[in-house]
Amino acid sequence: MSVSQLAKSIPQSPTLKLTEQARLLRERGEAVIHLGAGEPKNKAPMSAILAASSKLNPGDIKYTPADGIPSLKRAIIRYTEENYDKIVAPENIIVSAGAKQSVFNVLYSIVNPQDEIIILAPYWVSYPEMVKMVLGVPVIVKAEDGSFCPRFEDVLNVMSPNTKAIIVNTPNNPSGMMYSAEFVEQIIRHCEKKGIYVIMDDIYHKLVFDGKKTPSCYKYTDKDIESSHIIAINGVSKLYGMTGFRVGWAIAGRSLVEIMTNVQGQITTCVSILLQAAAEGAMTGLQSSVESLRLQLENNRNVMLQELSSFTGVKTVKPDGTYYCLPDFRAYSNSSVELSNMLLKKALVVTVPGKEFGMEGYLRLSYAGTIKEITEGISRMKWALDPNAPNEIYVGDKKLVRDWL
Ligand code: PMP
Repeated sequence: MSVSQLAKSIPQSPTLKLTEQARLLRERGEAVIHLGAGEPKNKAPMSAILAASSKLNPGDIKYTPADGIPSLKRAIIRYTEENYDKIVAPENIIVSAGAKQSVFNVLYSIVNPQDEIIILAPYWVSYPEMVKMVLGVPVIVKAEDGSFCPRFEDVLNVMSPNTKAIIVNTPNNPSGMMYSAEFVEQIIRHCEKKGIYVIMDDIYHKLVFDGKKTPSCYKYTDKDIESSHIIAINGVSKLYGMTGFRVGWAIAGRSLVEIMTNVQGQITTCVSILLQAAAEGAMTGLQSSVESLRLQLENNRNVMLQELSSFTGVKTVKPDGTYYCLPDFRAYSNSSVELSNMLLKKALVVTVPGKEFGMEGYLRLSYAGTIKEITEGISRMKWALDPNAPNEIYVGDKKLVRDWL
């Protein structure tokens, strides 16, 4: 088959692949527990549903401006003012099919072949692949001390004349950690001075725990939005549990937004009006669902940490936010892919191998599900791995006996 070498080199998204595997196993009636999912169980806010149906019912569903409908942009302007203390104009906003497309669109619009994009490990699986897709070079920075937060000096060390941008995702998928305000400030101040783009992937910025708050990236620049190199990315997927609605956005200087709009206009034309209306509905409706999701996640995180604390040899750093934690399973295996496969096969628990995020020996576990899924999922994992755990367990109505430890 004659296909593009580049396209062929792009692997399937491991998280999507695992979700599909879990779905197929469930379809076969297997009692799978999905600790790999990056989405909560809650329904979309009623205001989102009503807004989408009020567009759907009259049947008048047409193209919209490539960069988004004005009323959704107004909601984004308000969101930016409330959450970033920053006033932006409609021309500073482009709405895309999820934050994922926003990240890709930014990269496509700023990267020349061989430009380097700095990515902090652990990182979201899609960043390096997207950088490769636009012929850039991903430059991974790992903390020397093995922690989840590299130092500013580590970032400085990899900067070169080819550095075009750095991607900062805080709190972070997969670790759940927030970078220190000082670290983010150092990066932004340095990049603003050097004319390097800072792509702030803020998709989890409101889902933080223990009374913490993610500082606004704009706090650390003296430049106005038109001359700043900060690009802030956000979306409704994680905040409102609206992952299937596919609406995200980027905020940047007008000249970059114009280029991104031309690019998007040639590829997807626009995000469906129904979904833009739903996003607007969620953002302008009652916001109580956001706080209840945040509280639920904080509680779930506490339960997961509690369960993991009695797992022999497993070390977990307390996440500050997001849906995830990234425990160290090197006491059991140095191959996270093998470990994750074994857990799926023996215990029917889906986990995501840390290797996919640049942290071999770790597993990403999601606490976005129910308390029952968390407690049962972790006890199945203990049964499969921990010799101190009882060697019999019920999975669905089947009694399983461990005979490999
Ligand atoms: N950035 C990060 C760090 C994510 O974890 C995700 C979703 N898993 C996205 C972006 C994309 O979100 P969306 O559903 O809006 O495309």
